Order: sequence, then C-alpha cells, then structure tokens
Amino acid sequence: MGIESQCGLKMLFFPLMAHGHMLPMLNMAKLFALRGVEATILTTPANAHLVQPFVDRANDSGSVPGPMRLLLVPFPPDTGLPAGCENLSSIPPEEMPSHFSRFIDATEKLRGPFGGVLRELLPDCVVTDMFFPWTYDAAAELGVPRLVFHGLNLFSLCIADSFDRYRPLERLSAEARSLVIPGLPHRVELLTSQIPSFEKATGGLARGLQESESKSYGVLVNSFYELERDYARHYREVVGRRAWLLGPLALCHGDDHDNAGGRDACLEWLDSRSRGSVVYVCFGSMSDFSAAQLREMALGLEASGRPFVWVVRKGGKEWAPEGFEERVGGRGLVVRGWAPQIPILNHPSVGGFVTHCGWNSSLEGVSAGLPLATWPLFADQVYNEKLIVEVLRIGVSIRRNEEDRGDDGVVAAAMIRKAVEELMGGGEDARERRRRARELGKMARRAVGRDGSSYNDMSNLIIELVDKKAKQFK
Ligand code: UDP
Repeated sequence: MGIESQCGLKMLFFPLMAHGHMLPMLNMAKLFALRGVEATILTTPANAHLVQPFVDRANDSGSVPGPMRLLLVPFPPDTGLPAGCENLSSIPPEEMPSHFSRFIDATEKLRGPFGGVLRELLPDCVVTDMFFPWTYDAAAELGVPRLVFHGLNLFSLCIADSFDRYRPLERLSAEARSLVIPGLPHRVELLTSQIPSFEKATGGLARGLQESESKSYGVLVNSFYELERDYARHYREVVGRRAWLLGPLALCHGDDHDNAGGRDACLEWLDSRSRGSVVYVCFGSMSDFSAAQLREMALGLEASGRPFVWVVRKGGKEWAPEGFEERVGGRGLVVRGWAPQIPILNHPSVGGFVTHCGWNSSLEGVSAGLPLATWPLFADQVYNEKLIVEVLRIGVSIRRNEEDRGDDGVVAAAMIRKAVEELMGGGEDARERRRRARELGKMARRAVGRDGSSYNDMSNLIIELVDKKAKQFK
C-alpha cells in the first residue's frame, strides 16, 4: 500500500495545553500527515498561536499530503484560574501545586465540545493526552479508537506499572533510604526522597488515568525501539498493552531546524567556537531555581573552564556572582528566557548537554548524539536520569546523592564543576560515553528514516487503522 499518498485516514490530535506536551504531539501529527493522514489538531483559542504557524509551515512546505488543520473549542469559563490562563506553562511554578488540579478539572469540562467535534469530524482514531482520560468515553460512544500520548518513554511507563503492580511502597519501612523497583529488566534503585508523588497517589485522577488507559487502543510513544528494546518487550509482555514507538518526534523537521525563524545570535556565537568544545546548559520550560542555586551554577560553570551556553529563566541579575558576566564574557553566553534548543544541540561546536532530564530535552540530546550531565528536578525526570546514566550509560549525574545538597538544599558549585569536567573531559570513560552517545544519535536518525523502526511502527499502525476502517464498511 502506498501510504505516502492520501491513505484516507482522518486522525484527531488533542494535546494537553502545556509546552512539553503540545510540541511533541504537533510533531507527531506532522509525521502522520507526511504519511498521507488528514491530521486535525484540537486546542483552545489562547493556544492557537502555538499551533497555527506550525500547521501553516507544514502545509506550505508542499511535503505534507495530509493536509494538517487546526480546530478550536472555547476554554471553559469560571475555572478558578487566572483570566486567560489556557496553558499550564503560563502558570508560575509557585502557583502550580494549587493550579494544576484546577487546570485538569477545567479541561474535563471540554468533554461536551470534544464530543461535538468528534460527531462532526468522524475521525478514524483520536490521539489524546494521558491527562484527558474522559476522551476515551467520548470516543468510545462513537466507536472511535483512542490512542494515549503521555510524552513519557517506555522505561518510565514500565516503572509506573511496577509501582502499581507490585505495590513496593506498601512494604517500605519508615527507615528505608532507597527502593529497588521490582520486576524490571535492569536493577533500578531510587532514593525514597526521589520517588515522585504521583507514584504514591492511588485515588481520583491516578485511578481514572489507569482505567481509561487500560481500555484504550494503545499508546504512542516518543521514543525508538533501539533505545529501549528491553522495555518495549517488557511493556508488551508484562504490562500487556500495545505501544507504537514513533520517535524521536522532533526529527520530523529533518535538518531544516537551523533556519526556522531566522538565525539566532546564540548560533552565530557558537559558529566561532571550536568543534565539540561548548557545554549547553538548560533546564526546560518550568524550572525555578533559587537565586542561591543559580549563583552556585554560575560559579561551577566558571570554574569548569569550559565554554558554555546557559539558559536562565529568571530575569534580573541579583543571583549573578560579583563580576561573573565580565569574567566569563567571550567564553560563556547567558541566554535569558528562551533559546532555540534543537539547533543549539545540533550545532557542531556543542559537545555536551547539562539537562533537567525532561523527556523532550533528553531525547533531543540523544538525537544530537550528545553525552548528558543530568540534574532531574521532579516527576519522570528522576527515571530519565536512571535510563540515561545507568542503562544507556551516556550520562553523568550531577547530584549523585541527597548528601550532594547542602543544608539549604543547594547543590554546590564544586559538584557542578566536577560533572562538567567529567562530561567534557578527555579520559577513557568520557570518550566511551561520547562514543555510545554518537552511536545512539545515528540510531535515532535511522529509526525515523525510511524503513527504520519508528517509520515501520507508524506504517504498521496506519495499515491496521486502514484495515479496521475497511472492515467497518463491509
Ligand atoms: N526548550 C527550548 N528552549 C528553551 C527551553 C526549552 O526550545 O529555552 C524546549 C526543548 O527543546 C524541549 C521543551 O522545550 O522540546 C522542554 O520539554 P522537556 O520535556 O524537556 O521539559 P519541560 O519543559 O516539560 O520540563
């Protein structure tokens, strides 16, 4: 079957309105559109500016037989959220604990409008975020299969299953300092202080997510088989759910990311540095470090002696050590706010990535063939660090133990300097890490290329959905 032309399939994509969830799902929709699927993205009006340019670019490129389009449903009123807040990424970190559940409750009120869109569009399948469990019921009423997108890798999904299946927390003594996750292909040991709070949650949202997921058609994963083959098997055989690995999704743009929106000053700066010499430091879209921690990072980067690009969310300079920017000027670039991460990671001058281990960032680093220094902050980032450092062995951990934090919870400059030196250094371990990372980068590109594992997984899903549709009309 020629699936690069129109395949007659219509798919509806409905991402959680948060940066780390929307971008990969947009990339996924584009990949389906490139294979001839009519891909519609659903969101709310205040998020249209994030989607429309993406859709326009894809349609204008002439390479998308799909085509792609955007549909909007109004965000529910009276949610208890600040006016105009329709995206989780616009909530300040200090408000997140109280606003997160309000936001999720508000999205549940979209069930009616979502059902309306389904009745009008009659898609052959919907891909919806894990935080929208109610989309399963709305789709099932119309006989439309729902695929779940978590934005997580299979390693994290297998750990979550292990917590649920073997309930190790129920047997954990009060004095225990660590826990070995039962039943996984590798020995994965977590400090009890690292266990994300959602693994402890059993009621409400957690149960709803589990139930709806187990009834859904399967999960779509931003990862590739060669990266997680043991966990692909474990997920199928032990967890017992279907998964299609379609990533790295960010590679859907090929190599033309460099010119998106004009060339950034940061890339120009990188042009003047030597190959593989620069360490790129960025902690995603939601990090919120104290001024004391930013100061230690600055001192650590300075002491490492390496050229760096460091993205700092916080405005102002109150955290900067006296004379810092003058001392590192020319060698270090501090970017305030937002940097074009993917072009930076793929710039030949960049040789290592200090990351908070958000899965998008981690996979972008892997795709660029870079070794990583890991500093997870919360949630699945803790698992991603284990995957990167212990399973794939392409990373060094900045905070090896809780003792690596001072009494004030701050990681000292010396720890940061040490990790950057290890990451960028010339010893045998560093060379081996770099070699493995380069190899994985090549595998990532092969996976999404013609007849690669992710390419073929998508073909298999498309063929299955086309067959399913044909049977319905017999
Ligand atoms: N990102 C970026 N520039 C920045 C910070 C982040 O382009 O200055 C992008 C990054 O490439 C990634 C996403 O934002 O695609 C962050 O997602 P991730 O899952 O890594 O972390 P989160 O922000 O969800 O914690």
